[in-house]
Amino acid sequence: MIHEIEPHSFNNQFKNDAVLSDDSLIFVFGKENEPSFGGRAVLTKDSRIPRFSDFSGVNRDSLTFLFNIDGNDCFLLRESRPEFDGEEKGFVFRSFRHVRNVQDIPKYEHFLAMTAFQLHNWYKNNTYCGQCGSETVLSEKERAMICPKCGRTIYPRIVPAVTVAIIDRERDKILLTQYAGRDFTFYALVAGFTEIGETLEETVKREAMEETGLKVKNIRYYGSQPWGIVDNIMVGFYCELDGSNEIHRDAEELKLADWFSREEVELQPTDMSLTNNLMKAFKEGRI
Ligand SMILES: [Zn+2]
Repeated sequence: MIHEIEPHSFNNQFKNDAVLSDDSLIFVFGKENEPSFGGRAVLTKDSRIPRFSDFSGVNRDSLTFLFNIDGNDCFLLRESRPEFDGEEKGFVFRSFRHVRNVQDIPKYEHFLAMTAFQLHNWYKNNTYCGQCGSETVLSEKERAMICPKCGRTIYPRIVPAVTVAIIDRERDKILLTQYAGRDFTFYALVAGFTEIGETLEETVKREAMEETGLKVKNIRYYGSQPWGIVDNIMVGFYCELDGSNEIHRDAEELKLADWFSREEVELQPTDMSLTNNLMKAFKEGRI
C-alpha cells in the first residue's frame, strides 16, 4: 500500500529547528482550483520531486517544515516563483495523479507527495481564522495555526472514511463496485465518509444500505491507511451479508455493483490502496 515504505523511515513529528540542506525535498503545489484533486505539483523537468539545490534564491521564511524522511527534513514552499510561470525554466506543473504514476519517482516519494499535499491544503485553507476572519500565523511549538486576534488554535483535521468488503458466505462471493462519473474505472468496494455523530461500524452499515440496499453483519476491522488526497484516514472492514443478496444499486454513486467469486475478482493496476488490499485478501482466501 502507498504508506508501506519500508525500509524508509518517515517521521512527521513537528519541529521548529528543521535543517535545510541541498538534499531537502521541496514540495510545491498549485493554488488554482482544479476539478480533480484541487491542485497540481511541481516537478523538475526530468520528472523528479525538486530538492533545495534545484532552486536559487529561495527565502527561508517561505519554507515550512513538513516531515522527515530517513533523517532528511522536507519542506513546503509557500511562495509562487517566476520560474514556475513557464515550463522552459526548469520546472513543470503536473496533476497529482500524474505525479503518483511517474515511474521514475520512487514509491516512497509518492507517499511523501500525498502527505505533503494534505499539509499544503491544510495551510492554504487556514490562512484566515474561521472565527474572526483575521490572518493566522504558524505556531512555533506545534503543528498548528494561531489567530493572533481571537487566540483560536487550528489543528489539522483528518477525515475518517470506510472501505468495506461485503462477503456473501453462502455463495462465497464479494460485492465489487465501479464508481459513476469518475476517471477511476477499476473495481472498488462500497465506501464513504463517516457522518458526524456516527461510529465507523454505523458508517459501514449505512453505506452498504445506501449504495447497494444490502444489510450486513459481523463487521470486522481489517486495517487502515492515510489517504491525504482527500484528507482521509481510510478504515477497512470486511463483513457478512445479512439476509437477501439482491442488490439495489445507487445509480448516482455507482455504475456497477455485483457479486464476484474469488477467481473473478479483478484487482486494481497498482497495490497502493487499502481497497485493493481488501479485494486481494478475498481473492487469496485470507478473509
Ligand atoms: Zn480569530
